[in-house]
Amino acid sequence: MNIQDASQYLTPNYGRFPITLVKGQGSRVWDDAGNSYLDFMAGIAVNTLGHAHPAMIETITKQAATMLHCSNLYFNPQQNQLAKKLVELSALDKVFFCNSGAEANEAAIKLARKYFHDQGLQKYGIITATQSFHGRTMQTIAATGQDKVKAGFAPLPAGFKHVPFNDLPALKAAIDDSTAAIMLEPLQGEGGVNLANIEYLEGVRALCDERDILLIFDEIQTGIGRCGTMFAFEKAGVKPDILTLAKGLGGGVPIGAMLATEKVGASLSAGSHGTTFGGNPMSCAVALTVLDVMEKDDLLNNVQARSAQLQTGLQKLVATYAIFEEVRGDGLLLGIKANIEVVPIINACLGNGLLVLAAGPQVLRFLPALNISEAEITEGLDILNQSIKGLDL
Ligand SMILES: *Cc1c(COP(=O)(O)O)cnc(C)c1O
Repeated sequence: MNIQDASQYLTPNYGRFPITLVKGQGSRVWDDAGNSYLDFMAGIAVNTLGHAHPAMIETITKQAATMLHCSNLYFNPQQNQLAKKLVELSALDKVFFCNSGAEANEAAIKLARKYFHDQGLQKYGIITATQSFHGRTMQTIAATGQDKVKAGFAPLPAGFKHVPFNDLPALKAAIDDSTAAIMLEPLQGEGGVNLANIEYLEGVRALCDERDILLIFDEIQTGIGRCGTMFAFEKAGVKPDILTLAKGLGGGVPIGAMLATEKVGASLSAGSHGTTFGGNPMSCAVALTVLDVMEKDDLLNNVQARSAQLQTGLQKLVATYAIFEEVRGDGLLLGIKANIEVVPIINACLGNGLLVLAAGPQVLRFLPALNISEAEITEGLDILNQSIKGLDL
């Protein structure tokens, strides 16, 4: 089916690039016309191990022949093991599994409110940052600090406030007796690749402790090695009370997770929350494999090395082209800020065989697989450079 025909059947909610992808291998994908592309976006930070990784194929094949789903009315070994693994990696205590990032944040927001409700306290307010992105459900668009995701969906759930990112006095001023939680991305992805200062995160943690407020880190994009440590919060040495994960966790299978401390997690009592698909044996088995390969192949080291390489290359572009202002981000969640709209650059890259994405109108974002090679980074930088040169800017 061609793109025009497909558009007849699909809701028009995505601004899609006009290609149809049919297969992938490592950091390369192919369209239905046989063109190949180097993949510098990994399905929006999802394909942690690239495409068609042999260990994932083996796990998926084995698990499909064993059990796909059994519901949360029973235990399953894959969910048990993945929970243990995530607890060991994060130093948080309890895990709830779901199927997406927005669902993980929904669980986090519900848990924060329930935690204070259980103590008989009227604390329900959630403070988030402007330019944040927390998902597309009603609660998570209310949580998101960008008007464009809210437009047309009023009335939105109440109890959300937004404050400028990296501005501790503004946050302090927004806190009142009804504040239950502060929810932040340690590195804002969709909102323009904006990195939180360590002093800011330390200050937020101190404020939360002082005022009996929960700190929620949305690491749906930054978690699972993306920033060169398993979780971005490790770099700041600031531990949240609640942590949300999704995107890279399943390496391509849908899975989300919400982690909490023992004390907070206890409020998600029997019957208070749930999901049919969350924590199914298939998605948990694949997530375990993703974590296993990351460890065996020392991918955190690769993220750091490839990040340095990519940053050096992007800095050269900033030095060469007046349209670029700065390189931002961390690990393999990097951005280059332009003073023009970046869509023409993305289209030129697509035409030359490189997939990159935007983070807002003026930021090019790079999110390659964590196992991308040195040669592939070099190749991607070359295509990017050629694509910019070819534009009449
Ligand atoms: C992608 C993303 C979400 C939403 O995840 P979905 O799986 O699309 O629901 C939430 N928060 C952040 C930081 C994200 O990057």
